[in-house]
Amino acid sequence: MATASNILVIDDDADIGDLVIAAAQSMGIPCRATTDAGELPCLLDSDVSLILLDLMMPGMDGVEVLRLLGKLECRASIVLISGINRRVIDTTEKLAGALGLKIAGHLQKPFRLADLEGLLRGHIPQKCAADAKQATRIDFPAKELCDGIWNDEFVLYYQPQIDIQSGEVEGLEALARWQHPERGLLFPDSFIGRLEALQLIDDFGWRVSERGLSEMRQFAVNGHPAPRLALNVSVQSLRDLKFPDIFVSLAEKHRVPASSIMVEITESRLMHDPSYALDVLARLRMKNVQLSIDDFGTGYAMMQHLVSIPATELKIDRIFVQNMHSNASDRVMVEKTIELGHDLGMTVTAEGVETVEQLEFLRQKGCDRAQGYLFSRPLPPSQMTQWLASYYARGVEA
Ligand code: C2E
Ligand code: CA
Ligand code: CA
Repeated sequence: MATASNILVIDDDADIGDLVIAAAQSMGIPCRATTDAGELPCLLDSDVSLILLDLMMPGMDGVEVLRLLGKLECRASIVLISGINRRVIDTTEKLAGALGLKIAGHLQKPFRLADLEGLLRGHIPQKCAADAKQATRIDFPAKELCDGIWNDEFVLYYQPQIDIQSGEVEGLEALARWQHPERGLLFPDSFIGRLEALQLIDDFGWRVSERGLSEMRQFAVNGHPAPRLALNVSVQSLRDLKFPDIFVSLAEKHRVPASSIMVEITESRLMHDPSYALDVLARLRMKNVQLSIDDFGTGYAMMQHLVSIPATELKIDRIFVQNMHSNASDRVMVEKTIELGHDLGMTVTAEGVETVEQLEFLRQKGCDRAQGYLFSRPLPPSQMTQWLASYYARGVEA
């Protein structure tokens, strides 16, 4: 019986299978390989989230496998491997799209190990995030979460976002923490998913937004205006067409201009079904709220979707920033995201910046803003006020 595996390789060349297994293992992702596409129905279980498929195989070729995957209503992302020319791959990608399959990229044979690792790594953040959630996520009873919301146990920590050229503090990202009366301080990965599953995320989101807006004025320090407030909003909350009106009236109530608020939405969730959030996002933009595509690089955004989303900022996921000095494909990813963001008229923020080397590289490549432990960890409001005061006192420098 097959053990659970997250990556499945279908290639008649056993060496390719071995290579992918070794690369995946070094990243801690379970992987299986087969040279026989006929085994597919037995190997494809719900744990498989990425399939690497060779297009040219004796017996059942890649196109036939795609048809079979379509019939099996396969949900996994698929990477096409091939030695044949690019146009054939393009056509095959279109076919896969028509069959309702999700193509996550392609590898042209012979490929470099770094390219393979880059592809797998692009797959990891979602996978690891899901795993981390499972590891730390507690199935809180609805009542415990409701009590938490109505007793105002959810608080915000703030992390500065710095303009790389001028050193100015451009924004503060609000990150939720649960000050649980018995369990202590809990991090978002342990409760956001549960709030979404129980349909409590809207109530939570409104309370947290209200808190963030009301805390803003503390951050006007030493004659500097309060930086822009960046709020994380669940894609689920964007289903409500009234969201932009309610959001803006909340901002008005707290006398915070809409242009001083950035709404951050994670790329992977947004791209899952971009059409349904589009009108809400467009309305938010019309009201002058800034929009950021968070964790960019982890969700395989399709170009046509990206262009249609009226975002003002792209936020490069920290996994790429942290690996860019050791991994060439992550470095390229960072460079290309900066170019792409600028070509689309957006500013680009890099998150997870921990070292001066990372900051220097980002500066050279023209990245606009940086956020990360290099400047500050997320801090509770009173400590953030102190941090701002001493940052301004030192004189702004990046
Ligand atoms: P995110 O929006 O990508 O937030 C950035 C995460 O990276 C934060 O984790 C932050 O503490 C961490 N971080 C910042 N700088 C560094 C660094 O230099 N190195 C490293 N290793 N990590 C860094 P956190 O606070 O645990 O938040 C996790 C996620 O939870 C957030 O990811 C966001 O997607 C979600 N989240 C947080 N607050 C809210 C909220 O109020 N509403 C919703 N819907 N989601 C939230
Ligand atoms: Ca964020
Ligand atoms: Ca992020």
